[in-house]
Amino acid sequence: MSNAEPETVLGKLTRREFRERMASGELAGCLIPVAAIEQHLEHLAMEHDWRSVGLVTRAVARRLAPRLLIAEGLMCGISEHHMQHPGTLTLRPGTFLTVLGDLIDSMVRAGFRNIVVVNGHGGNIEPIRGVWDQFLRQFDGTNLHFLSYWDRLGQADADELLRGGKRLPDDMPGHAQEFETSFALAKFPENVRADALADQPDRSPALATAEQGNDWFARVTGRLAKFVGEVIDGERQSKTPPYHP
Ligand SMILES: [Zn+2]
Repeated sequence: MSNAEPETVLGKLTRREFRERMASGELAGCLIPVAAIEQHLEHLAMEHDWRSVGLVTRAVARRLAPRLLIAEGLMCGISEHHMQHPGTLTLRPGTFLTVLGDLIDSMVRAGFRNIVVVNGHGGNIEPIRGVWDQFLRQFDGTNLHFLSYWDRLGQADADELLRGGKRLPDDMPGHAQEFETSFALAKFPENVRADALADQPDRSPALATAEQGNDWFARVTGRLAKFVGEVIDGERQSKTPPYHP
């Protein structure tokens, strides 16, 4: 390839480039981002969750280059609880989980032994957790992990960075509140409608700043890179749950 930086997105590779990088042993793991396209109140564009998890996974893959590839993934998620706002896209849980299982299966068949599903939407969490043991058994032998990109944040981060709300871990990410709004201001400000921001009944989104968003981004990507680094180095192993005797 002519690029100075190794490509991190699977879909940008030709089959030959993929084959050669896999055969060389260079590719140690794969990230599968999943998210949502759903209403984010009046002030944020609906792509927020997908755009965020896309940027986070790319940053992580660049840090660990050339050892990681991003297999995009599911931009649309489980958002039935947002369907009162037209324009939201939702998948039924069975559809979402079937596709996610097929994506993991494709990457296992491509030769990956370390796979991390990185989530960017709260509504996907419980359905994925509900079937995760089944996936671990189905893909026994694969070091398979699931987490949301904000999972490595804790109360100390909330205390240090959140300015409004109750400063609870639940406010990271919250829904179109201070955390997500600051993230957008920092990384894709064209998605923030400043006029609508001022009208929020809750002032928390209006407190968001780009500086804060850059701080969130650095914390999130640094910690996720550490987690994924441990996965591809074999220091963090998933455990297949017991089978029925
Ligand atoms: Zn969101």
